[in-house]
Amino acid sequence: MTNRFVAIGECMVEMAPTVEGTYSMGFAGDTLNTAWYARRMFPANWDVSYLTAVGTDAVSDRMVAFMQDSGITTDPIQRRTDKTVGLYMIQLTNGERSFAYWRSDSAARCLAADIAHVEKVLAPAKIVYFSGITIAVLPEADRTAFLAAVGRARAKGATVVFDPNLRPRLWPDVVTMCNSIMDAAAVCDIALPSYEDEASYFGDKTPDDTAERYRKAGCGLVVVKNGPEEVVCVSGEGRTVVPVQPVAIVVDTTAAGDSFNAGFLAAYCEGVALEQAVQAGVRLAGAVIGARGALVDRAETAA
Ligand code: ADP
Repeated sequence: MTNRFVAIGECMVEMAPTVEGTYSMGFAGDTLNTAWYARRMFPANWDVSYLTAVGTDAVSDRMVAFMQDSGITTDPIQRRTDKTVGLYMIQLTNGERSFAYWRSDSAARCLAADIAHVEKVLAPAKIVYFSGITIAVLPEADRTAFLAAVGRARAKGATVVFDPNLRPRLWPDVVTMCNSIMDAAAVCDIALPSYEDEASYFGDKTPDDTAERYRKAGCGLVVVKNGPEEVVCVSGEGRTVVPVQPVAIVVDTTAAGDSFNAGFLAAYCEGVALEQAVQAGVRLAGAVIGARGALVDRAETAA
């Protein structure tokens, strides 16, 4: 029987500078990055699907083809004749990376406009995965409907996994962001927050504060990432702390958290014990930050 992992969110066109001074085009986005690594880390009897909305133009076709070539199931993707995909450009100034975004009218903002479609896609899912960015890009009414649909999928037996991925620039204000993040946490089984972000916007004093807040919201398991520091996991069974192996040369931390989530979930959802599953996430993230770019082809063999 095929097990289904469904990731939901926005994939964007990425324009990255080359040494020649031109730009190379790729595709990335937090939930898409996790789906991409999940496809590599989950065994073959798992289907990895992506739910988003794109346009009907050539660049949208290329994005969908890229996902298909990566082994991701694209059947859930909706096509909008009136929209296209979002884009971001990486700029290098004296070796420092900065990002400029064109995503405010992207097709992905409509991904939950047809809630019956979302419901249909989530129905056969064993794992439903989304992030704070997924809900940040939705209009408010769609966000409420989306979280209700996720809650119904959970009630029918799906395991719901959420990475809060706090991005205040995508929200009208920090209070709205924090309230919406906790609304999402209330329909989740597993939360995978990053402590630094959580401390900045929720005022948590320790990773245990972060874990406790998500536990109180209803998440059975909280795995708190903290860059090179130990990973703190809290569940009904207690507290587990997993050390992070230092990475000799950190090249590019893009997608550290996204790849961690995929490595962890691929192991945990196959029944691997919590500590070993976290170690699998740490290994994959360590390999990813040792190379340039969000999607590192050889990371899973290194991990
Ligand atoms: P995010 O990318 O979401 O901000 P974190 O920075 O917390 O996430 O990192 C996610 C995971 O990536 C960590 O739990 C760890 O396993 C790994 N990681 C991040 N930075 C480092 C580092 N400097 N050295 C080793 N591992 C790291």
